[in-house]
Amino acid sequence: MHTHHSALGLAVSSRPDQPVTLIRPHAARRAARYFVEKFQGRPMYAVKANPSQDLLAILFESGVTHFDVASIAEVRLVARTLPEATLCFMHPVKAEEAIAEAYFTHGVRTFSLDSHEELEKILRATKHATDLTLCVRLRVSSDHSKLSLAAKFGADPREAPALLFAVRQAADALGICFHVGSQAMTPAAYRQAMERVRQAIVEAAVTVDVIDVGGGFPSVYPGMEPPALDAYFRAIHDAFESLPISYSAELWCEPGRALCAEYASVLVRVEKRRGNELYINDGAYGSLFDAAHVGWRFPVRLVRETVSNVRDMEFSFYGPTCDDLDHMAGPFLLPGDVKAGDYIEIGMLGAYGSAMRTAFNGFGSTETVVVTDEPMATAYGEAPAEPAASGNVVTL
Ligand SMILES: *Cc1c(COP(=O)(O)O)cnc(C)c1O
Repeated sequence: MHTHHSALGLAVSSRPDQPVTLIRPHAARRAARYFVEKFQGRPMYAVKANPSQDLLAILFESGVTHFDVASIAEVRLVARTLPEATLCFMHPVKAEEAIAEAYFTHGVRTFSLDSHEELEKILRATKHATDLTLCVRLRVSSDHSKLSLAAKFGADPREAPALLFAVRQAADALGICFHVGSQAMTPAAYRQAMERVRQAIVEAAVTVDVIDVGGGFPSVYPGMEPPALDAYFRAIHDAFESLPISYSAELWCEPGRALCAEYASVLVRVEKRRGNELYINDGAYGSLFDAAHVGWRFPVRLVRETVSNVRDMEFSFYGPTCDDLDHMAGPFLLPGDVKAGDYIEIGMLGAYGSAMRTAFNGFGSTETVVVTDEPMATAYGEAPAEPAASGNVVTL
């Protein structure tokens, strides 16, 4: 893989006519180290956020040894990429064949569930295995998060005690898990969810071995600047300490976004300008699904050898397909003289950007290049400011 110092080096040397994914291994390493060192429990990476094999290897080398997988394809991918990794199958509704293959072929022992039917299914598929860690997913509020995960999964307070009791009889280890929704904007989301966990434990009167606080840890985007991750960890640690569970109970979390948002950005080219609308060569069917469908604003910068001194204006983007839906409203702030042929770097696309890309309308191909400069934002301390145009190309 080619290495450049920054997007500018690449744009100047190759003038790519397709979008290029820029990856920053050092940013993923920094995020992984932060979770491994500061989270007082076990961080496992939620693979769906970005299933790149390079990223999986970086996280593993940095101390993340457990992976939250949700489909049999993810199980196979991680098992093939990292034979030493531990996999936890945390989708509460699984195919019976997937459970059997995960258990018998890939050594998966941890599964989540939110119903009696799924418990039966897991027991059938594993031929009543006696070495299972089963995590009951509780339904918790997504009110503090930008993307809800509250509607689809989770046992509600009326169902939870009976389910916990039944799972306790069947499992070697009993866990409770939840997901507060993605991009949780306040630590209170976890405090409130942990209160639900407490009520469920008290009502079911069961011994619990694992508390898994799920994902939802935020990254930094324009207009979405959450408190420091440290405050989230403190809220979780404090709540965990005060739960009615034994000293040997384990604390887990399942960050997806927070581990990989800073890992990738995309270099796009402007193919046309119409007023304050820019037609670029990546879009809703590419790495900008969230920008199009949930109005997510990603940071952008003009990548030009001579810095523009024209004032910033608000732009919206059209992607390359023939579909009106391929529109990203933004607003994205760029110098007023941006024009066809210019390159733009769209930052913080490591989570759910590349993962959701399709080849619709023939616009799927993307090259990947390593860059060594800092991501456009970071949740992990001050990233040193980069000169806007360094022209510094390091090709390895
Ligand atoms: C999506 C998902 C995650 C990761 O969520 P983030 O908001 O990206 O941290 C973790 N656990 C489960 C069960 C998920 O579905």
